[in-house]
Amino acid sequence: MTKSLLLRGGRLVTMDNSRRIVDGDVLVQDGRIKNVGRSDGRTAGRSKPTTIDCSGLIVLPGLVQAHIHLCQTLFRGLADELRLEQWLSRRIWPLEAAHTEETVFWSAMLGAAELLLGGTTAILDMETVRHTGTAFEALESIGIRATVGKCLMDAPTNPPRLRETTDKALTESSDLCARWHGAAGGRLRYCFAPRFAPSCTGPLLRAVSDLAEHSGATIHTHAAETPLELDTVRRGTGHDEIAYLDTVGISGPRAALAHCVWVDKDGIERLARQGTNVVHCPSSNLKLGSGIAPIPEMLAAGCRVGIGADGAPCNNRLDAFAEMRLAALIQKPRLGPDALPAGQALELATLGGARALGLEAEIGSIEVGKCADLIALDLSGPHAQPDDADLISRIVYSARAGDVRHVIVDGRIVVQDGELKTADVGEIRRAANTQARRLRRAVGL
Ligand SMILES: [Zn+2]
Repeated sequence: MTKSLLLRGGRLVTMDNSRRIVDGDVLVQDGRIKNVGRSDGRTAGRSKPTTIDCSGLIVLPGLVQAHIHLCQTLFRGLADELRLEQWLSRRIWPLEAAHTEETVFWSAMLGAAELLLGGTTAILDMETVRHTGTAFEALESIGIRATVGKCLMDAPTNPPRLRETTDKALTESSDLCARWHGAAGGRLRYCFAPRFAPSCTGPLLRAVSDLAEHSGATIHTHAAETPLELDTVRRGTGHDEIAYLDTVGISGPRAALAHCVWVDKDGIERLARQGTNVVHCPSSNLKLGSGIAPIPEMLAAGCRVGIGADGAPCNNRLDAFAEMRLAALIQKPRLGPDALPAGQALELATLGGARALGLEAEIGSIEVGKCADLIALDLSGPHAQPDDADLISRIVYSARAGDVRHVIVDGRIVVQDGELKTADVGEIRRAANTQARRLRRAVGL
């Protein structure tokens, strides 16, 4: 790790409490932000800091995506034009069941490379049932901040090749938590990741709630994505899904529920009261035809909301800029052009994501003492001109992943001048393509 780093001369979009935008430097020491604003570098101590020239660039807190499946990156383009239930049963579950250590590793490397190059510095990731340790190894080496969970599927209705006993699912999950929660200096964390209520028994969900509480880990699951899912849960439990999850302890600030598309007023009030994190996945919800989540209503009710691209086969990109832009756009036909303005979309991808990962004290804004997860954007392209237009508008509506020039995670330079420094992108591409072909052959696609 670079001990001391100076990002010199950028325009800093701090996302601090007063949403200050200032011209100046960010000084980083031992992975943390030491100073924000004018600096001559002398506060770095005796050794001269490594300096990155950010003049003309926009410096932002690293973007956070609170719902990702890195194990699905190799499935990109293999499951288009399907509804969630067929998407899972015909494509995603057979492909996940065919995963080997090698395919999981390169799927994680490919996804993480795309994420880092596009300015996403932290993720909440749900892997598949097997080989989660291998995904952690990939993420340890490539340098992204990640909270990762083994997918838990113990209900009798699951496909036999993915279904595990409750005991096995919980034991392996606890072992992974013991091994990885807080690893790589705290950059890697574990989450307990029951797939969704229909895939899990009540005893498993209750045990997950206890284990997460005990270990200080996040709970990461899906909820209320489609009407069919809601019906299944209601028939099986007699409860509305959000209410049911609360009865088994999957609620509150420790829990992150992806989607929450089909949530009524009572459900929204419940989520707000509990402080449960909702993770909005606008591209995924549109592509699978699931619907439009009532995010402005949730924000008005005081819900905690983050954002995520979900998996490559339901998006098909892992691009935080695309998700921010879409989050702002999709509400406007329903609620008017002032619904979910640009500033709110940027909050979802920074502060909201940090909260969903339980890391609001560590990431999500550029403030002294926080972890140095920072990105620098070059908005000099024609698509982001004129350059005196509102900066937040340019970031949310105009910027794209290709505008990311530099990326710092935990004080380490992982992308410089648009080039990944922690892994060879050519090697990732070759290996990922080989492994994707192997998976396709294994399932006959
Ligand atoms: Zn998902």
